[in-house]
Parts: sequence; structure tokens; C-alpha cells
Amino acid sequence: MVKLNKSLKQLSSGYLFQEVEKISLSINKKIKLINLGIGDINKPISKFFITHICKAAKTLQYEKTKRGYCNSQGENNLRRIIKKYCYKNLNISEDEIFISSGTKRDISSIQELFSKDAKIAICDPSYPVYLDSNIIAGRKNISLLKCLEKNNFLPLIPKKSYDLIYLCSPNNPTGVAFTKKELKKWVDYALKNKSVILFDGAYESFITDKNIIRSIYEIEKAKKVAIEFRSFSKMAGFTSLRLSYLIIPKSLKIENYSLSNLWKRLLDTKFGSVSYPIQQGGLAVYSKEGRAEVKKLISYYMTNASILRKGLEKLNFKTFGGKNSPYIWCKTLNNLSSWDFFNLILKNTNIITIPGRGFGKCGENFIRFSAFANITDIKLALKRLKKFLKNSF
Ligand code: PLP
Repeated sequence: MVKLNKSLKQLSSGYLFQEVEKISLSINKKIKLINLGIGDINKPISKFFITHICKAAKTLQYEKTKRGYCNSQGENNLRRIIKKYCYKNLNISEDEIFISSGTKRDISSIQELFSKDAKIAICDPSYPVYLDSNIIAGRKNISLLKCLEKNNFLPLIPKKSYDLIYLCSPNNPTGVAFTKKELKKWVDYALKNKSVILFDGAYESFITDKNIIRSIYEIEKAKKVAIEFRSFSKMAGFTSLRLSYLIIPKSLKIENYSLSNLWKRLLDTKFGSVSYPIQQGGLAVYSKEGRAEVKKLISYYMTNASILRKGLEKLNFKTFGGKNSPYIWCKTLNNLSSWDFFNLILKNTNIITIPGRGFGKCGENFIRFSAFANITDIKLALKRLKKFLKNSF
């Protein structure tokens, strides 16, 4: 009889965001639900991007412009333009860039490059996919790095040696981001311990402060120890289209094997590349008009984040993030547990947040607000919270 993958039994019963959605659906529908929970886009995709995608799709119907399978590493013109606009002066070449269909997928499958007994360090709290995907793969050597309020939710350099370290900046859920000086300590650690850093930059485009680092490759020698992940999801509103990329530098080697060559080998076997029209949509994102669209979109969400953060602070909440990130990490009141506080807010104000505990033990006593909402809803949510707090706290 076929047996189940034992590791699946160790996963929590449901994926965090689906659990929250299930609970939210059971709430009083007479008052409008305001979703400040899940980090999904709120605005429709720019018409400019859709026009390019449709145009590219239409070329496939003609004899002269038809195409077959795409290069598993991604279209040359898209990799070229990413190099030009995202890695200018960082000495990253086109063949170190891999186009893909979502950072969720990339960061889950990258571990296939590493031995089963690799010692893995994951920040707590963090994006649940890092831990879940390692559990699914049956990995046993997983350690959690506590990210505490007293350290501004950044992980401290461990005394122990780890092989693979997941870092995310700007971070989901805390919204805090690394400065160059802080991230350099991790690059030095990785060089010393011969580790690999998996640097999740899915929210890079939300960075506004000059002292926050955008790419880990801004740090000297990081190309020897880091793989970087970026996504079009939040940057260009492509969550439904699926487009991302990762950088595996040629100089990143293990046992004399180039990880970038091995990743290409893996993709050729397991991945049929991203659909051609979507990649052409990605190309449009970096055109002059496309970059203006992205700027407008990010500015919209970051204005929301600023209004939400300031509004919460006015209501005496202690907040983190929301400055270089669309997420606001907010301490619960009266030391309530994050699930209790989430439920209390949901039942009394019909506002959906995400309980911090869902991102790890160190997320206890916090909830996450997302700025991926419309501004009217954010203002209404602040009004409802004000009224509720006045009557109940
Ligand atoms: N990384 C982080 C930190 C995220 O929060 C998310 C999505 O919410 C992702 C990656 C997934 O990105 P994608 O939509 O490209 O799969």
C-alpha cells in the first residue's frame, strides 16, 4: 500500500492566510468587512501591462511570429532589462538571472540544491513558506532565529554555524528592513561559515529610505554567498499573472559545482519556463511608461501605509514597519495574545488583520496590518478602531 509523505503530517492544519479567511467568512455580513489582512494587491493591473501581454499573446497565432517552448531560464530581453534597471553597477550578468513564476515557488524549491542534512536557520517571525517548505521536504535540522522587539525585530548573528539562512528585507510580517551595515554582518558570517544566504527581496520596490539596502549584492563578496529573490507580484500587481526572478551568481559554488549551472540543469528538467506573454508583460514593466506605472502604484500603497501607521500610532498602538514596506506590525493592547486580539478586532469592528503568532512564536502579542487596501477602507477602519477602543479599553 502506498504510504503518505510523513512530513506532511507535521504541517500545521491550514496555511495561515486561508485559516484567517475561513474565520473571517463566519463573521456578521451586515457590516462591510474591511480586509487589512492578506498581502494581496487591491488595484487592477495597469492597462498598459495588459495591452502588452495581449499583444504578445496575439503574435503566437501567426506563422511568422509563432513560438514553441521558451528558454527555461527566461527570455533574453527580459533578463537584459532586469540587469540594466535592477543591477546597474552591481556586476550581475544576464546568465545569472533566472525568470520564474513566483518567489513562493522559487524560495520553496531552491532547497533542492542543498543536501538533506543542511543546517537551516529561519527567522521567527517570518513568511510561513520558508518553514513549511522545509518541513514538506522532510528536513530535520531547522532552527529558528528569534527576532525580538528589543532588537528591532532583526535577527542576531548566531554563535552556531548554519548552512542555509533565510533573510527577508523589507520583512514580511514585521516590515523592518536591513541597513547595509546590518546585512554586511550576515555576509561576513556566511563567508566565515561557508553558508548560503537566501535573500528574499519580494518587497524591494517599497524601499524609500536611502540607508536601506536594496540588493544584497551591494555588499562586497556577497556574490560568493547569496541567492537573491525578487517578485513582480506586489511591485507591478502581478499576483495573478505570476512572474518573478532570482539571481544565482556564477561565483557561488559548493564543492566546486556552480549553483547557477546546477539550477539551470534542474529547470531544464522540471520547469517549462514562464508563459511568453507574461514575460513580455514583465518587459513592459521596465519601459519608461511601465516604470511610471510602478511608481504610481507603489506610491499609492505607501501613502496608505503611512496613513494607517500614523492613524494606529494616534490610537496609542506601538507600531513597526510601514515605512519601507506595505506591512505594519502592531503590538496588541493589554498584552492580549495575537489570536485573541485578532478575533476581538474582527468581531467588534469587522476588520481583518493577521495574528502575528501565525508567523512564528516570536510573533505572539502582535498583529499585522496590510496597506494593500483602498484608502477609503483604511480611513473607515481607523474610525471603527477609534470607536471600539474608546468603548472597550
Ligand atoms: N516572499 C515574501 C516575503 C512574501 O510575502 C510573498 C508573498 O506574499 C512572496 C515571497 C511570494 O511572492 P510571489 O507572489 O512572487 O510568489
